[in-house]
Amino acid sequence: MTIAILALQGAFIEHEQVLHRLGHETLEIRNLADWQRYCSEVPEADRRLVIPGGESTAMTRIMRDENLLEPLREAILHGMPVLGTCAGLIMLDPQHLATMDIHVRRNAYGRQLGSFTANATVAGLPSANEKPFPMVFIRAPYIESVGDGVEVLASVDSHIVAARQGNQLAVAFHPELTDDTRLHELFLSL
Ligand code: GLN
Repeated sequence: MTIAILALQGAFIEHEQVLHRLGHETLEIRNLADWQRYCSEVPEADRRLVIPGGESTAMTRIMRDENLLEPLREAILHGMPVLGTCAGLIMLDPQHLATMDIHVRRNAYGRQLGSFTANATVAGLPSANEKPFPMVFIRAPYIESVGDGVEVLASVDSHIVAARQGNQLAVAFHPELTDDTRLHELFLSL
């Protein structure tokens, strides 16, 4: 498979490395021409997108300048699987791409002490209960509430840190920074 990676800024290379390790190819999306190339090379049913962590304000500004917001929003609403991590989760909320019915709090843990690690069960992963998922949080958001049709997959300290709505998978942490590939594999199976 060839997976599109939004590569405007942030932690996109780490996602590419995980996907390459799992035997897949990636195409970096930096502008509308890249997206059009991806769409011409990959049939609609095989398209999928990773929106990495980084800085959601900067990412939004570049997406707007590059005219990427609308085409990506449309593709996601048409059912294209998407994995949003950290800032990528924020990008899916009603104030950004507006494809997921989630209410997000940005920099939810404060800016200074906002980086920490935790282990928690992520529903739907193989061996979910026996093998908690290692979670790296970097100035992370969390999800304050979800609408109908959104499944909560994981919580840490009673805050939602992973959720799924149809083919949209959103996590507040950085699965690309650990060796555990189960979340990427779940995304690839959508
Ligand atoms: N704090 C960033 C934001 O609000 C997200 C941080 C991250 O992606 N690691 O966009």
